Amino acid sequence: MTSATVLISGAASGIGRKIAEAFLGQGDSVHICDSSAEMIAEFAAANPTATTTQADVANVADVERVFAELKQHYGTLNTLINNAGIAGPVATVDNIEPDDWDECVAVDLSSAFYMTRRAVPLLKAAGGGSIINVASTAGLMGVPMRSPYAASKWGLIGLTKTWAMELGPEKIRVNAVCPGCVSGPRIEGVIEKDAKKRGVTPDEIRSVYLRQSSMRDFVSPEEIADTILFLASSKASKISGQALAIDGHTETLANWLD
Ligand code: NAD
Repeated sequence: MTSATVLISGAASGIGRKIAEAFLGQGDSVHICDSSAEMIAEFAAANPTATTTQADVANVADVERVFAELKQHYGTLNTLINNAGIAGPVATVDNIEPDDWDECVAVDLSSAFYMTRRAVPLLKAAGGGSIINVASTAGLMGVPMRSPYAASKWGLIGLTKTWAMELGPEKIRVNAVCPGCVSGPRIEGVIEKDAKKRGVTPDEIRSVYLRQSSMRDFVSPEEIADTILFLASSKASKISGQALAIDGHTETLANWLD
């Protein structure tokens, strides 16, 4: 298999970093962007063959810089992963401030548009390629207290299906992955905070989250990276326009204790 050039947003830490390291592990050329200079420095030290741009993907001028640097380094692109995302406000709709709404939608939805409009000419020039949007199970069902996040992730799936139709004739495949609750220190922190707020034990909260999924389990970042490697590969050459959940089958995202 020939090696590919891959661009991943928000990839200096978290799931994005696991995705970047998975592509590096199979010998691909990887360019990442991230808004955190500190995280980029850590990522670059651990992955000296990757290239990086510090950029806020919700900012159009920053995205222009990402593509200028990508072109300088590689002059081509085979795979774009729109991964950058933030959780946004956790509140009922009547308690969300418009500025918090705007920030979440800009980072989680508009950024994918800014990145993709610049990636498409490069993918076309390469004779085809793959775009993968990192959505969420929050893009497949309602999520109480997370209006702008849910709206952005549903929006990403709408873009996935639309771009798959627009770009299919150019042999550019577009898919979304929808991770469920991801295991690791981040979810443990959320569980602890939630338990404190509700005056219950972390174990009670953990079991509420676990029961959202039929398989009663969280997803590992490696499982998400594995699915993305497959979707980007020639083994998935006829898979496009799909929103693939990686979540042990989420039945609900309601997290009521009663
Ligand atoms: P994370 O917060 O651990 O990492 C996100 C990375 O993106 C960080 O390195 C951060 O610096 C960077 N980033 C944030 N805002 C940015 C911006 N404006 N421009 C550039 N970089 C930016 O998050 P994560 O858990 O790794 O999530 C990655 C993606 O997976 C997100 O789209 C998220 O919505 C989605 N997701 C996460 C989970 C989960 O349980 N963690 C579940 C479903 C979907």
